[in-house]
Parts: sequence; C-alpha cells; structure tokens
Amino acid sequence: MDLGIKGKRALLCASSKGLGLGCAEALAAAGVDLVMNARGAEALDASAQAIRDAHGVEVTTVAADITTPEGRQLVLEAAGAVDILVNNAGGPPPGMWHDWEREDFIKALDANMLTPIALIKALVPGMMDRGWGRVVNITSQSVKAPIGVLGLSNSARAGLTGYVAGTSRQVAGKGVTINNLLPGIHATDRADALDGGVVKAKGITLEQARADRAATIPAGRYGTREEFGAACAFLCSVHAGFIVGQNLLLDGGATNMTI
Ligand code: NAP
Repeated sequence: MDLGIKGKRALLCASSKGLGLGCAEALAAAGVDLVMNARGAEALDASAQAIRDAHGVEVTTVAADITTPEGRQLVLEAAGAVDILVNNAGGPPPGMWHDWEREDFIKALDANMLTPIALIKALVPGMMDRGWGRVVNITSQSVKAPIGVLGLSNSARAGLTGYVAGTSRQVAGKGVTINNLLPGIHATDRADALDGGVVKAKGITLEQARADRAATIPAGRYGTREEFGAACAFLCSVHAGFIVGQNLLLDGGATNMTI
C-alpha cells in the first residue's frame, strides 16, 4: 500500500533502538525524511546511516536527552517544521508502590507525560497552519491494564492519555490527528531489562524468563519492532486521517478484554 507520505518530514524521539527505531525504519521505507533523536550518539548515528543506506531518505540526528528543556530545544531547532511527530522516551524503572517519592513521580511525568505534551504544543500549531499533521505517542499496554511494578509508568502514561483524548478532538478539524500506540511486550532492550528483573527476583535464566512471559501471550511470542513500526507508519499515512484520539494495543492478545 502506498502510504501517501513520501517527501514528508518526521521527528522521532528516542529512536536509535527498539520501538522508536522500528517507527523510523517504517516511515523511511515510505519515503519520509527523518529527524532522529537519542542520548547516545554512537547508536543513533549507526541507525541513521543504516536508514539512509536502505531507503535513501534524508536523516538528521540530534543526540540529546528529550526529557530535558535543553534537549528538547536542541531537537526542535534541528527539526524545524515537521509533518509527523513520534513521541517516545525510555520507560520508568519498576518498583513497589510504597517506595516511590515525589522526585520519582516528577521524573516519570517529565519523561512520559510532560515531554510529549511540550512537543505537541511546539509542533502541532505549525501542522494546523499547514492543514496536515500526524502525532503518534508510544505509551504502553499499562494504560489499559495496569502493571503493578510499573506504577510510575501507569501514572504518567494515564496522564498523557487523558491529555491526548481531549486535545486530539480539538485539532482534528485542521487535518491533524493524534493517536497513541500501546505496546505490550516487544523484543527490545527494554524487554531485556524487565526480564532481567525477573531473572534476579526468581533466580531463573533469561531464556526461562522470556519463555514464561511468552507463554502468557495468546500469540505465544514477543512483538517485533518491525510490526510496531508498520502500525505507526499506517497511523501517519494519508489513509488514517479519520482515526482520532485512539489507543491502539499491540500486545499479541495479552490484555484480556472485549473492547
Ligand atoms: P529501548 O529498546 O530501551 O529503546 C529506547 C530508545 O530510547 C533508545 O534509542 C534510547 O537511546 C532512547 N532513549 C531513552 N531515553 C531517552 C531520552 N531521555 N532521550 C532521548 N532518547 C532516549 O526501549 P523500547 O522497548 O523501544 O521502549 C520504548 C518505549 O516503549 C519506552 O517508554 C518503554 O517503556 C515503552 N514500552 C516498551 C515495551 C516493550 O516491551 N519493549 C512495552 C511497553 C512499553 P539512548 O539510551 O541512547 O538515549
């Protein structure tokens, strides 16, 4: 399918690896020029070069912490006017509900709620003026079904989801859609880190931890960044203009619910 977005320009936050990289690759395959961001320059530059080589699109890189005002300023200066914004950042650490202090919540809110909101506020007005835009926020399965040990994530992402629900309906009339992608478990470094916690807690091998988790998923496996990226690219396509304020779960059926 021709996604109809060849020649558009996209900003992808936190995209040197994992799900953000999957989105970058899929948009590049559709002919979109990219501005990619991550903190570590080495992996970022390597991923950007691989995308240039594979797809022949323009890729600008900005090594910066997207969760800080300084980092966002650098990224926004390099990005300029973009048609597509993919919001992403690292997820908060796991823990217990009684251990998190105000500073822990502020950090999680900064990363997974206030940063995407700041970028939406910075970039959506230009999209509205130009009459077309797409915003996709990478959130989590935990928005639909809380994961106890990820309480910081549950809280921050629920806040972003509420903001998007209202805001998406205020900007849709100008041709701008805002939607959320909710990953269940995907085979990335983040999954390795979460499974590493299980290894420590249960004294089992990483392979066993992965197999145990996969067995809880109706699809019987982890998702891939390619599958995730393809869903993102579709939401960014010309065909998805009537999809507004939705929360699309990509979890292999793991969340047991009817709607
Ligand atoms: P990942 O494989 O660990 O990749 C994270 C990417 O984000 C890397 O490119 C990393 O590069 C970059 N990054 C992290 N913090 C950043 C920051 N402050 N500023 C700029 N870039 C930053 O993670 P992932 O699995 O793709 O997960 C992406 C998001 O989806 C996370 O919020 C995660 O919690 C959520 N999620 C993932 C899963 C899953 O199973 N994978 C499930 C549910 C939710 P640098 O480290 O160099 O900055």
